[in-house]
Amino acid sequence: MLKGIAASSGYVIAKVYKLQQPVLNIERKQANAEEEIKKLQAALAKTIKDIELIKERASANLTAEELAVFDAHLMMASDPELIGQMEEMIKNESINADFAAETVGNMMVSMFESMDNDYFKERAADVKDVTFRLKCNILNVEIPDLTSIDTQVVVVAEDLTPSDTAQLNKKFTKGFATEIGGRTSHSAIMARSLEIPAVVGIDDVMKMAKHNDEIILDAVDGLVFLNPTEELKQEYIAKLEAFIAEKEALKVLLDAKSETVDHHEVELAGNIGTPKDVEGVVNNGGEGVGLYRTEFLYMDTDAFPNEEEQFEAYKKVLEGMNGKKVVVRTLDIGGDKKLNYFEFPEEMNPFLGYRAIRLCLDLPHILRTQLRALIRASIYGKLCIMFPMIATVDEFKQAKAIFEEEKAKLVKEGVAVSEEIEVGMMVEIPAAAVLADQFAKYADFFSIGTNDLIQYSMAADRMSSKVSYLYQPLNPSILRLVKMTIDGAHAHGKWVGMCGEMAGDQLAAPVLLGLGLDEFSMSATSILPTRKLIRSLSYAEMKELALQAVALDNEEAVIELVKKTLK
Ligand code: PEP
Ligand code: MG
Repeated sequence: MLKGIAASSGYVIAKVYKLQQPVLNIERKQANAEEEIKKLQAALAKTIKDIELIKERASANLTAEELAVFDAHLMMASDPELIGQMEEMIKNESINADFAAETVGNMMVSMFESMDNDYFKERAADVKDVTFRLKCNILNVEIPDLTSIDTQVVVVAEDLTPSDTAQLNKKFTKGFATEIGGRTSHSAIMARSLEIPAVVGIDDVMKMAKHNDEIILDAVDGLVFLNPTEELKQEYIAKLEAFIAEKEALKVLLDAKSETVDHHEVELAGNIGTPKDVEGVVNNGGEGVGLYRTEFLYMDTDAFPNEEEQFEAYKKVLEGMNGKKVVVRTLDIGGDKKLNYFEFPEEMNPFLGYRAIRLCLDLPHILRTQLRALIRASIYGKLCIMFPMIATVDEFKQAKAIFEEEKAKLVKEGVAVSEEIEVGMMVEIPAAAVLADQFAKYADFFSIGTNDLIQYSMAADRMSSKVSYLYQPLNPSILRLVKMTIDGAHAHGKWVGMCGEMAGDQLAAPVLLGLGLDEFSMSATSILPTRKLIRSLSYAEMKELALQAVALDNEEAVIELVKKTLK
């Protein structure tokens, strides 16, 4: 049994698919040139065939745009310049094909990377990808391919990148287990939006699990069992059945109000990463989208998405929600979210560095394009826009001014825009929570991002499993910051949501309710359980509970108090 962090709930019994990138050991060796050129050509032919096959399989999951990256790779693999240089080197120096492929590949990569042009910089990533595949084929080393999975598996990996998760076919990938990550790392967030059970931050899972081992993934308690006994398997089959039955039973609450027994109503919304996730929110009774993380639009491609591409995505989400509120967050890139076509500066602490609104105010054309696309889409529903990682009132004012400018430009161009767009901000930096009463003079609403708010308040990296014990949503220090934010907003008649993972935490919800939170936004699958809970609570009692909780001195005491009150 291995222990990790339950990141997306559920149970799975399946086989292990181990995702491990091979490490190549390439050295310069003297060799027969003729034979090496033959090897190179055979490997090249296989490389082209491999890419074509991956493209074909991926076409079931990806859009035409997302598939374009494979065409770029095919073009690269058939580029006479690249291949010619490798052959030349083998011939002239009588050396091994893998070394020639590596040397020429590296040269091309540095050449593209040094160009002051985004298009060519992207090509560097393509060369890396293609020459890696080529070298593996020369050396007869197999590369794991997520799109080739055709039986039910649990993917076991060091970590999963957004492009890995984009390739996962939900029909066969029943869960995943990773060594890296915490409840709020992006692979965990993706798992929840795909509704795939996941356990993350499992020490040694790569060492212990072998390809094709039988595995039980208990993503409720954060456990992994390898090659379980028949008895344990039976136990988990029963748990799985009960889990499904409970999910079914909650469906009676799909259209019910999210209100307490004394008729205090709140809004339960869903967090999404892509337009595809809207369906999950609607099917789980979401009353809106409380957080659309737009960075996935930027992460799943090989260039900044243009205004038209963004407009289409935003329109789809607004239309999909059918007039219900949609809160779109502007680009929150940096930290653990990188782009393969944009170079971030090397920083000691990227989570404290050049990211989100800081980057967008420094490179405002990126923000302007996104805001134009959003404002144009605003006529298709009820749009709220929010800026991530706001630390100072001045940052908010600058971002809001850019919004006003782009809106005025569009109006002047004769484009139809909604006059009801709300412009708010995320409260995820303690400075903003403390100064909420001042921010509330300018922002239409707040959405509390507890994933970051907790990491910054506790000075505990959300990606580190070693310090994950400091992720304490119910610590009175965090509750006080939440209270300050809500009180500051309410004093100016503004509403407050929460879109961090804490909003869907069943022990936190009673306290948040009592503190006066107006909107709770969470993974779609948490909406119905939270509605059931809220409908069982009294607002008057929860207000009392919240007052007591903020006066305690540690998280355990708060948890105990909540449990006692709920009994
Ligand atoms: C948060 O920080 O709580 C949040 C919702 O944003 P993200 O998890 O995308 O950083
Ligand atoms: Mg955040």
